[in-house]
Amino acid sequence: MPPIDIAPLAAALRGEAIRPGEAAYDGARSLWNALIDKRPALIVRADGVADVITAIRFARENGLAIAVRGGGHNVAGNAVCDDGLMIDLSVMRAVQVDPARRTARVEGGATLADLDHETQAFGLATPGGVVSSTGIAGLTLGGGFGWLTRRYGLAVDNLLAVELVTADGALITASEHEHPELFWGLRGGSGNFGVATSFLFRLHEIGPEILFGPTVYRLDDAVEVLQHYRAFAESAPRECCVWADLMTAPPLPFLPERYHGTKVLTLMQCYSGDPTEGEAVLAPLRRFGQPIGDAVSPMRYASAQQILDQAYAKGLRNYWKSDNFKTLSDTTIEKLVAIARTMPTPETDMLICQLGGAMGDVAPDATAFPHRDAAFIVTPGARWRDPADDARCLAWIHEIGEGLSEDADGGAYVNFIAEIDGRERDAYGANYERLAALKNHYDPTNAFSLNQNVRPAA
Ligand SMILES: Cc1cc2nc3c(=O)[nH]c(=O)nc-3n(C[C@H](O)[C@H](O)[C@H](O)COP(=O)(O)OP(=O)(O)OC[C@H]3O[C@@H](n4cnc5c(N)ncnc54)[C@H](O)[C@@H]3O)c2cc1C
Repeated sequence: MPPIDIAPLAAALRGEAIRPGEAAYDGARSLWNALIDKRPALIVRADGVADVITAIRFARENGLAIAVRGGGHNVAGNAVCDDGLMIDLSVMRAVQVDPARRTARVEGGATLADLDHETQAFGLATPGGVVSSTGIAGLTLGGGFGWLTRRYGLAVDNLLAVELVTADGALITASEHEHPELFWGLRGGSGNFGVATSFLFRLHEIGPEILFGPTVYRLDDAVEVLQHYRAFAESAPRECCVWADLMTAPPLPFLPERYHGTKVLTLMQCYSGDPTEGEAVLAPLRRFGQPIGDAVSPMRYASAQQILDQAYAKGLRNYWKSDNFKTLSDTTIEKLVAIARTMPTPETDMLICQLGGAMGDVAPDATAFPHRDAAFIVTPGARWRDPADDARCLAWIHEIGEGLSEDADGGAYVNFIAEIDGRERDAYGANYERLAALKNHYDPTNAFSLNQNVRPAA
């Protein structure tokens, strides 16, 4: 960064301006994905809308690129940049529930844990992701799905309004009634249009107890079990959502010790309705074949939302590929299981997320999120600890990612891909042109380019 006097900026902030060399700098620039190691010239840890406006104006006046951090979880690592200005919303985490209206207003740096904590106090929830440290902002702007999506749709389907600071530093509200076209774009168009300082969500009655947990199988049985899972998924009720994961078994107490460290298939099951009804619904899945472990039980929704946190903890090096599937053919299943045998580290996994249900009730062009007919998302995630393994793990993921894409439906979830270059159409589908026109209107100079970028049309 050329010498710029930041004293007036620092004086104008309620939050902090953090420069390289300061004690808070390395912590503030670090993201969930340890593969990302970028050094911004300046980090503004915003504490309120006014700070966001100040930071955007400062960046634009001084010709600095802008990166925006919500929860810092995105595998692509666009929340930080080299040389530019990082706007860090990590202290803007307030969540305010209106139990009578069944809504929650959520600040732009809140995590899923923050949201669940406040909403569950009233027996309410809204669809989000499955790891509680994930940021609401990035998750929602890309679509957002989790255990409740088959029942209540995507996060964007429950979004009522967004407060956004635009590239020229204006604060606007986007909803069905105000800036409706922008509201359309914010529901799947990623961080392209400004900094979202708050989101207003619709809530639903959930819990406090749901039926939740894993059934685990040996990898040798995985082809048959996945075929059964495919059939189960086709007719499963909307309260039910099951994700399959080809992974290495951790030393969990409900698994016999001889399977610890071996490759397994886990079916992580959620029944978000009455747990007693759920027992009957999940029984055909849990009793199929020869499970080596089962820990499905009634538990608090808020606890279920945190069960995967440790497995996906911050600090590992990550590179993901992802593709959408309308079905899992026998060939795809066989390929997945064969690839699972080659996973390069114990932390690497291949996740199959079940979609369908309510998210398919919405038309592909009703919001910017286009993949309404995807039944599964398959995401091989290479994860490793040692930088010395970078080349080996990256080679693995690139090779198998391309192999899997051949069987996929051509779409990809924008929040699960590490690089969008060349995959813009996969991510945004037929909505790309409309997003580009919107970008032209709200951010014609592409001030917000450090994201899964939509280039202005002009
Ligand atoms: C372990 C793990 C589990 C996940 N599970 C799920 C899941 O179950 N379901 C699901 O749908 N997704 C899931 N995701 C993907 C997740 O939705 C994305 O990584 C999402 O981008 C995370 O949001 P964030 O705010 O934490 O990210 P960040 O890295 O902070 O931000 C990502 C991008 O979003 C934009 N952005 C962030 N905050 C704002 C803001 N306030 N205003 C404007 N733009 C902003 C920026 O462009 C930024 O580059 C998971 C990711 C991980 C790593």
